[in-house]
Amino acid sequence: MSLREFLRPVRIVLVEPSLPENIGASARAMKTMGLTDLALVRPKLFPDARASALAAGADDLLEGARVCNSLAEALEGCIHAAGCSARLRDIAVPLQEPALAARNLVARMAQGPVALVFGAERTGLSNEDLGRCHVAVHIPTEPDFSSLNLAQAVQVLAFSVRNAALEQQGTEALANTRDDAPADLGQLERMFGHFEEALSEIDFFKGRPHGQLMLRIRRMLLRADLDTREVMILRGILAEAQRMARLAARVNN
Ligand code: SAH
Repeated sequence: MSLREFLRPVRIVLVEPSLPENIGASARAMKTMGLTDLALVRPKLFPDARASALAAGADDLLEGARVCNSLAEALEGCIHAAGCSARLRDIAVPLQEPALAARNLVARMAQGPVALVFGAERTGLSNEDLGRCHVAVHIPTEPDFSSLNLAQAVQVLAFSVRNAALEQQGTEALANTRDDAPADLGQLERMFGHFEEALSEIDFFKGRPHGQLMLRIRRMLLRADLDTREVMILRGILAEAQRMARLAARVNN
């Protein structure tokens, strides 16, 4: 599944945007990150040539955008909504930073559409609108200058959602391509022991202490997240190196 298909359940809702430029720039921000579902609640001017100009190729999102009369209508069918707020005060719902909010959205979207809700340029989201959301999201800023341009706030959240989706797809892809069971710690310990023994036999340490090097090898191989077959391959290589070292030793004697 492409990332864009994967992200299809993510809806961006703009409540009463007053500048058509911000609608266009938001569509562009969405499309760069693979988001496609845009809903507009009582936009002041829409459609508008200035929105299309700023969309810069994301016109398809503008054409597909749903214009709604209320936030409730825009959120219809959504199982989870996060309201984006430039202000930290007077917020009745739990507050999350973008990365966590994005991970939560991505985790929930298998069950149905999820929404990110943005307020109007001048006033932001009303308490009533924010109250319709499960959580509030705040992009960390300087405390005395916390209000981003609307489309730029959309860009930051869209980027966070894309990252969260990539993270999730990455772990799923890793899990799906594995036929063999992950190596258990006992197998790994025996492999490290084998490494130390074989590296001694082929005189890799050259009289240096083993500790530091073995630690690095350990760290490297633990990072590789080996499965049982991979451990067998590595140990096969070590055994072969040992056999060659013994043969060479016999020839030299
Ligand atoms: N003057 C308004 C700010 C509106 S900015 C106020 O004080 O609330 C328009 C919208 O962009 C906001 O409603 C919010 O959805 C989003 N936004 C701007 N800055 C943000 C920030 N730091 N964190 C989260 N959302 C932000």
